[in-house]
Amino acid sequence: MWRTALLGTLLGLASLADPLPAQRPEPPRLLDDIRFLSDDRLQGRMTGSPGADSAATYLARRFSQVGLQPAAGGWFQSFTVGRDAPAARQTQTGALVGKNVIGILPGRDPVLRNQAVILGAHYDHLGLGGFGSLDPDSTGIVHNGADDNASGAAALIQVAARLAASPPARTVVFIAFSGEELGLLGSAFYVKQPIYPLASTLAMVNLDMVGRLRNGRLIVYGARSAKEFPALLDSLNWYAGFDLKAQGDGYGPSDQSSFYAAKRPVLHIFTDLHEDYHRTTDDWQKVNYDGLKRVADFSLGLVTALANRTKPLTFLELPAPTVSQTGTAPTSGTPGYGAYLGTVPDMTGAPGGVRLVGVRAGSPAEKAGLRGDDIITRIGSKETPDLQAMTDALRSHKPGEVVEIMVRRGATVTTLQATLGVRGG
Ligand SMILES: [Zn+2]
Repeated sequence: MWRTALLGTLLGLASLADPLPAQRPEPPRLLDDIRFLSDDRLQGRMTGSPGADSAATYLARRFSQVGLQPAAGGWFQSFTVGRDAPAARQTQTGALVGKNVIGILPGRDPVLRNQAVILGAHYDHLGLGGFGSLDPDSTGIVHNGADDNASGAAALIQVAARLAASPPARTVVFIAFSGEELGLLGSAFYVKQPIYPLASTLAMVNLDMVGRLRNGRLIVYGARSAKEFPALLDSLNWYAGFDLKAQGDGYGPSDQSSFYAAKRPVLHIFTDLHEDYHRTTDDWQKVNYDGLKRVADFSLGLVTALANRTKPLTFLELPAPTVSQTGTAPTSGTPGYGAYLGTVPDMTGAPGGVRLVGVRAGSPAEKAGLRGDDIITRIGSKETPDLQAMTDALRSHKPGEVVEIMVRRGATVTTLQATLGVRGG
């Protein structure tokens, strides 16, 4: 009873002392944002398509409306999908231009504002199907991708709006990535050309598929990519009350992998797979809006805590689990089939071999001495000009076999020996 009475008094006083609230950013419109992004008019937002361009323009306008600033080069960071990128080969498109949309919220602390926390969500999807679709008969039909990942893009705007009303100490960089469905291309490009140096980037949080909360179950991958993450997530969840599954290293089938390969702590927030994943039925009517709001609230708390903490994070690189997380990770080969090497290929191109962005900790690849920037040109007796050839080469061997791997490293060519492992899943 006393609380109510006190609250009434305080509210009365507040309204006298503060008759005209300062200009507020436009309130977030989760439903409107998702409906716009997953409308048939955008034709499934395939990277480089007019529909994706419309989405990018829309996102830049929303970033501006909620109070973010463009980077020095503007709202868009463009990248070209090389003709030799694995996706370009399969889709026979090539030479597409993707656009990351980047909005900045400068930190308020004069020192910490030189450091950044990144909140990202990809906005591209599968267009009219074909490449990446799980519906065999759906080529030519719009894949709207409401959960994957209009949901993450809408949550991104929501968090931006609320954080802009009260900026934290560090700068927060909001990035709507393109090229994710073609192999994490937009995030790979950002890592090569970051707005803030990666060394000054505390962490990257990725929202990918956050619109289908069921039974309160929220997955957070990457929880083991920084020593401090498990305790932080637990304390945030004390208020949020999710059935929280926080687990895993930072490699997974979404944009956080690009940052983890660059040795930054990462988290991927995810409401799990469902029967509409990568199908024509991933529509806005099926999004759980109350759930999405809860996930956005949780993400807001998480980014606020990260951007305000006084201490750095302790990056951890742990041995990879043997079971793949969702089966679509861009690691070499197919889960559940063939021998395991543990490389993380660069999907942006095939420079006469398979370039690696990294190797999984404790994997056969790491034990063999492979590392990021290596270009694998041969495995055993098979040339590996591209990822498909490398996958085929690995499939021709069994776990436990020792194979020679020919590697181009800068100007030198080396041959390494790897003992292949068992692929989980
Ligand atoms: Zn997807």
